[in-house]
Amino acid sequence: MNLSKTLTWAVSALVMLPLVASANVNIHEAPSRPKNMIIMVGDGMGPAYTSAYRYYQNNPDTEEIEQTVFDRLLVGMASTYPARQSGYVTDSAASATALATGVKTYNGAISVDINKRPLTSIMQMAKQRGMAIGVAVTSQVNHATPAAYLAHNESRRNYEEIAKSYLTADADVILGGGQKYFSEALLEQFKAKGYQHIDDFSQLDSITKGKTLGLFADVQLPWVIDQQDSTQLSLLTQKALDLLSQNEQGFVLLVEGSLIDWAGHNNDIATAMGEMHGFANAIEVVEQFVRANPDTLMVVTADHNTGGLSIGANGEYAWDTSLLQGIKASPAALAEQAIAVDDWQALVNQTLGFDVTTEELQRLSNARMQGKSALETSLKQLIDSRSFTGWTTSGHTGGDVQVFAAGPAADLFKGNQDNTDIAEKMMSLLPRSQ
Ligand SMILES: [Zn+2]
Repeated sequence: MNLSKTLTWAVSALVMLPLVASANVNIHEAPSRPKNMIIMVGDGMGPAYTSAYRYYQNNPDTEEIEQTVFDRLLVGMASTYPARQSGYVTDSAASATALATGVKTYNGAISVDINKRPLTSIMQMAKQRGMAIGVAVTSQVNHATPAAYLAHNESRRNYEEIAKSYLTADADVILGGGQKYFSEALLEQFKAKGYQHIDDFSQLDSITKGKTLGLFADVQLPWVIDQQDSTQLSLLTQKALDLLSQNEQGFVLLVEGSLIDWAGHNNDIATAMGEMHGFANAIEVVEQFVRANPDTLMVVTADHNTGGLSIGANGEYAWDTSLLQGIKASPAALAEQAIAVDDWQALVNQTLGFDVTTEELQRLSNARMQGKSALETSLKQLIDSRSFTGWTTSGHTGGDVQVFAAGPAADLFKGNQDNTDIAEKMMSLLPRSQ
């Protein structure tokens, strides 16, 4: 080995050492500490969803495939398995508990351990440090993911208990759906604690400071595809950022694209892509905030995969995005309308945006006679077979999910990790407690 080569080795070894140390040994030594942290969860948003969204968004008139916000921010992967007793496939509660507390638990648990003892969440730690905290979601605000950040309960199904427990969570901003879980009496208690309560998007502008409980739907927010408007989660996210960023000590915010998972459970690709668009828009809002506020870290991930979505199906090397882009309503909404009108075939053709063949119409007609739910299923099957979309389950699947990040310490989230590592890394970036 000649001298110059030896020197090169020595130099690269010197350069490599701290990198190796920071990657493998000291993952909890923060390179630089963000003032604010935003964790964004695409519920059920496995890698097939972000790839599908890329092609769904692609402009077919240009040669190249345009990048999405997901392509731009990708830094790593995360495993999602729950506590051993629950096997390899997690539900949203166990996964959100892992993301919020850094501890694996059983499926169904809301930030309690396998012995049902409460676990300290990053939101509680942030509060202890004088930071502001908040959630902005498209499901009911007491659904599994936001619940794991704000509550402790042995079961995600205890919706009423979880809603009540938010009284003591001391969150500064709670935005999403779920009116039915907040009685007048409970709302009075929130007001007594200093919360402003709103229930319509038009009221968002009137809120400029202070604790806010915004419940904009009975349960979940309406599907993006049925609104033909993808701005709902963006508006909630922007309002949460405006309110939380007024706190001098910084903030931690959870944003969830909750309904990607619900569309996945329904094996409903058109609706899933609408929800992906809404979530992507919210990520772009946060990305802009991070650009304008370099002291803010954003981390985006999914809690698990839903539906076993495949891009291409039935042996075909194809996925028809222009067909999907033309669909103007969810199969659920279309089925409901098509049951109610006589000229349902014209409505179906017009809403789907493609010509349905005689044979396909016959199948839809048979389903329509069995009622709304059969017609909805038949519409989804038609969309799947025409677009070459595949599904393997109505539940979750256990593949790893992606991790996206930007801002100070974004590099901490590079490479392969477990979902509990995401929580531990974010916790390590909190200011030291007094
Ligand atoms: Zn799910």
